[in-house]
Amino acid sequence: MDDVAVMSDSTITLVYRGPRKRAALWRPAVEAKCSQIRWQNWPDEVSNPADVQILVTWLPPEDYLSLFPNLKVIFSVGMGVDQFSPQQLPEHIQLVRMQDENVRASMIEYLTGAVMMLHRDSYSYAQLQQQTLWQPSRPKLAHQRTVGVIGLGFLGKAVAEHFATLGFKVNGWSRSPKTIDNVASYHGQNQLRDFMQSVDCLICLLPLTPATENMLNRDTLSWLPPGASIINVGRGQHLVDEDLLALLDNEHLSHAVLDVFREEPLKQEHPFWTHPKVHITPHVAALVVEESAAELMADNIQAWLQQTPVSGSIDKTRGY
Ligand code: NAP
Repeated sequence: MDDVAVMSDSTITLVYRGPRKRAALWRPAVEAKCSQIRWQNWPDEVSNPADVQILVTWLPPEDYLSLFPNLKVIFSVGMGVDQFSPQQLPEHIQLVRMQDENVRASMIEYLTGAVMMLHRDSYSYAQLQQQTLWQPSRPKLAHQRTVGVIGLGFLGKAVAEHFATLGFKVNGWSRSPKTIDNVASYHGQNQLRDFMQSVDCLICLLPLTPATENMLNRDTLSWLPPGASIINVGRGQHLVDEDLLALLDNEHLSHAVLDVFREEPLKQEHPFWTHPKVHITPHVAALVVEESAAELMADNIQAWLQQTPVSGSIDKTRGY
């Protein structure tokens, strides 16, 4: 409790690492709400690293844990926190991420486009057009397809609800069971196979943790019904690239829409670029909107200073 008194009375040093354009928006928002914050841009404004208690960044500076021996909290400027290896952070350091409504809205827009392209065979017709081929197939209606969402958290739950309102059958898979209107809940490793077997279009919205890395592999993807498609908007490390390519080449899977990759930017020579059944976007499904995020960051820092619950706090033992 001594910490509370120290925090409310004295100056707290915050180090920000990232584009200065963002700092110009966020710094006034944070300083307006939290008068005791002394904001310093990394690296040129950092006078004494031992004073630093708050780090705001996407990627931390090298050796930051020894550089900032009095660090108490890290605020990720994005939704993901896998870059901080949460399970390896010292116990006393809190980790917080953005939970931006605009990111959720953007993810729903992106996935609506991708699912509808797949649902209405638009990627296949684009290929047929290249060959000047007129080959109609009877379209299915939404209620004849099952959209499957793995990861039913901040983004996945809203995405699952959205596709249910569009009339799709929706099944979701997560670690713990869920009750979501018009969404069938599957959970845990024991129910993964049944879940995968039920899905025509799989959306990955898992966080990257040791338990979810390489989850989309030859075995699990083979459980999808023939002709199914996948959309990966989670992290590139969820997917084993060679296994996906093998299942597209042997026609078990029909298409893959990929927004995230093991290595970004995707290397020029990667086979995904030219594969006719792979559709790539450069990690743009849902980006933090700088203006609304400024207020969110300021609110989160204020909540942390006041020792009230901070939205987006990470459970470091789970890793998300
Ligand atoms: P979140 O709120 O942390 O939700 C995670 C969900 O995954 C929870 O439902 C959780 O289950 C489930 N889960 C975690 N580990 C699991 C496991 N081992 N087995 C089964 N289920 C597991 O995540 P989010 O904020 O929705 O973000 C989802 C992903 O989107 C992240 O990878 C993030 O980096 C990515 N993302 C991508 C973009 C983009 O532009 N492409 C933008 C933003 C975010 P419980 O509910 O049972 O705990």
